[in-house]
Amino acid sequence: MIDKTMFLEIINKIADNIILNKDLLNELDMAIGDSDHGSNMARGFSEVKKKLETLKDSDYQTILKTIAMTLISTVGGASGPLYGTAFLKASSVVGDREVLDSNDLIKIYEVVIDGIKQRGKSDKGDKTMLDCIIPAYEAFKSSVESGKDLKEASKQAEQAATEGVEYTKTIKALKGRASFLGDRSIGHQDPGATSSHIIIKTISDIVN
Ligand code: ADP
Ligand code: MG
Ligand code: MG
Repeated sequence: MIDKTMFLEIINKIADNIILNKDLLNELDMAIGDSDHGSNMARGFSEVKKKLETLKDSDYQTILKTIAMTLISTVGGASGPLYGTAFLKASSVVGDREVLDSNDLIKIYEVVIDGIKQRGKSDKGDKTMLDCIIPAYEAFKSSVESGKDLKEASKQAEQAATEGVEYTKTIKALKGRASFLGDRSIGHQDPGATSSHIIIKTISDIVN
């Protein structure tokens, strides 16, 4: 179970880890984009950290919606609206819960993936954040369905996310700036898949 305290800790730590990995994300984006993914994400999540201080007594819906709006207005690029949509969609399924369980997380994954697919007109195999998030979701869901608890399912999700990021090295980008490179995008790791992995790993680390 994830209670409010743990939830706020997760968001805060996601922000810290994105900021810590700013240079790595910029370097990955240098190879197949315009070198700004780390700066974009770090700018957005620095703002999120400031907003979090005012949201301690808010419900999950309000917190997630505020994160979404903050990311949409500060991250920019392709990833800002996409992550913004992801958090906005997540806010729509948590209702007025006291705690979040594995089934809530499955629902969150589902609306996040649908939201990114719609907004990005993208899908698995396009060499984007979805190549990290979709396998993580599939692993999480099948773990829960086979009776694993939130901790174990989150570990499985993180492992699948890692493999998804590795997989992005082997494929050609079909969406976003990296697609301008065509076959030359092969061999490079997708920056957005990497930031998604940071988020999924942080969740797993904190629940464990
Ligand atoms: P920009 O490319 O505008 O500079 P960023 O560098 O912040 O934006 O983000 C790039 C990342 O966004 C990519 O690595 C990819 O994972 C993700 N991305 C780009 N376009 C799409 C899309 N249509 N659908 C899903 N993800 C996308
Ligand atoms: Mg970029
Ligand atoms: Mg850019």
